[in-house]
Amino acid sequence: MFDAFALLPPTGWWQSPLDDLENIKICSVSGDLSTPNCPAISSLESKSIHGGIPCRYHKKIHTTPDQSYQVDASCYPQEDMQHLKWFTLPPRMAYYYRSEHPEWKPIPPIHPNCQQLTSNQAVMRLIYPQAPRRILVPRNMDGSWSRTVFELAHQRPATKVYWHIDDRFIGATETFHAMELFPEPGDHVLTLVDADGNRLTQKFTIQQQELEE
Ligand SMILES: [Zn+2]
Repeated sequence: MFDAFALLPPTGWWQSPLDDLENIKICSVSGDLSTPNCPAISSLESKSIHGGIPCRYHKKIHTTPDQSYQVDASCYPQEDMQHLKWFTLPPRMAYYYRSEHPEWKPIPPIHPNCQQLTSNQAVMRLIYPQAPRRILVPRNMDGSWSRTVFELAHQRPATKVYWHIDDRFIGATETFHAMELFPEPGDHVLTLVDADGNRLTQKFTIQQQELEE
């Protein structure tokens, strides 16, 4: 087919609508306009068909050498960091993409030592619990154990956030990101993943507190 095109006269009967076309860079994975973090291909086409939306799926991240945690210079030695361009996906898209691309890895969680330090640029920030902590759960007047309210601040509150405790899906929040939960006594990990694939993990320990005699 390409050989056949080569035989055609270089100018002549086919006119491309050049006014509308630009040589633009497209993300080779998502097909959106490329950002500096995307593997890009050049393509002569109309910008309008992409709606001018830059790729949201490639992000530049810094990780530990084994790529298991995201870190930054304020909480991790810079010379040990890896600088990577990571292909991220919202959870539902990730679910389908993974079945076709088993080699794909979700973006690593933020290193426990870096949670506060990255909060300036972090999309999500936990209001409670803010750090690995022991949460004392008192008894209510009726003898039942009280619940604990976990709360998150999101840069774009309308973004949907999916809550997990110990890798078990608990529920989703939108706009007002708070959850009243009743985890069992012991150690837990809270994992929050938003619709854009941003991820936040926080360890905590639940301890039931008997009433003073
Ligand atoms: Zn991209």
